[in-house]
Amino acid sequence: MYTKGDFHIHSTASDGDLKPREIVLLAKERNLDIIALTDHNTVAGNKEAVKVGKIHGIKVIPGIELSTRFKGVRVHILGYFTDNSYKSHKFKTTLNNINKRRSRDCKTYLEEKLGFTFEGRKLNTVSGIDFLHRYNAKVVLAHPTLLNRELFKDIINLNFDGIEAKYYMNSDEDTEYFIKLAKEKGLIYTAGSDFHFNKRLDLKHGTLGKIYLEEDEIKDFLSILG
Ligand SMILES: [Zn+2]
Ligand SMILES: [Zn+2]
Repeated sequence: MYTKGDFHIHSTASDGDLKPREIVLLAKERNLDIIALTDHNTVAGNKEAVKVGKIHGIKVIPGIELSTRFKGVRVHILGYFTDNSYKSHKFKTTLNNINKRRSRDCKTYLEEKLGFTFEGRKLNTVSGIDFLHRYNAKVVLAHPTLLNRELFKDIINLNFDGIEAKYYMNSDEDTEYFIKLAKEKGLIYTAGSDFHFNKRLDLKHGTLGKIYLEEDEIKDFLSILG
């Protein structure tokens, strides 16, 4: 059984300063036994993290944090993969196309063939959730505490599987509110430090393992990951 899990972590694969393997070692040092790597718009660090995790007895759930837009507002969504679909060529190509969208052909393909919608250069949140679901991820609304409360009421009714009810920046009231809401809506909830930097002071994000799910909570989360 797992007892301590942080499910929102960034590495050098996006804008963090620790390599995926260093994340795993630090997690071990902090007595975490399950983590998820959720780099911005990339899955590049997962392979190394999963591999090193196996060696050190840390369960690593492959993940991603996707940048989307909803009614003009930035919405980050966390994807937790339940199988190896994220390693497929098709997933990586589509993700790459979403990130770059260099040519008109590319945009046409994403919009007309795959049915995605964009707001400016960013994927609409509904399409982001859909994209991750197509590749067998469970999708969790990241740091709801950072969202405008009015807009949050609309966003939470999108097709999410869960909500990041425990976030390093939350007040106790925030956490209580989001956990209660998750239960009312039949969603699972996760915890995330949004860890980015270990080598310098970082006041904008939490430290690894600062916030975490406990044993029973992890069990509930894992139950939807299959
Ligand atoms: Zn974020
Ligand atoms: Zn993040």
